[in-house]
Amino acid sequence: MNDFKGNFMGRLICIDAGHGGTDPGVCGNGLKEKDITLKTALKIGKLLSEYGFDVVYTRTKDIYVTLSERCRVTNSRKCDAFVSIHDNSAANTTANGIEILCYIKNNLAYYIQQNLIDELNLTDRGVKERKDLYVLNSTDM
Ligand SMILES: [Zn+2]
Repeated sequence: MNDFKGNFMGRLICIDAGHGGTDPGVCGNGLKEKDITLKTALKIGKLLSEYGFDVVYTRTKDIYVTLSERCRVTNSRKCDAFVSIHDNSAANTTANGIEILCYIKNNLAYYIQQNLIDELNLTDRGVKERKDLYVLNSTDM
């Protein structure tokens, strides 16, 4: 992974595994989004810890967590960044790629997107502002 040359100076990162418990997210090919997001979140959190960051999780097992509780956790801990992991689906089976949705486009989002594209060699679907998403407009960071 390249060195981060943006302006993110935070040390405490909240990793949010999307969905969970009674909310499976999208399902297909025998997979449930909630299982993939949890495995991904735990792996990312472990890597971040190894790089010296402190990590807060909104869930570490298969439980349902409301959107407001996810925001309460990260806001109350005063996290420097909130990263929510999701795996989308589409009717078009050739659709693929990585995208980052953020409240305001920022250097950290572009840094993560570029590194994911470089490492995974997948389609770059871009960094997009989505002020309508609850977890983005209800978190302080
Ligand atoms: Zn999702």
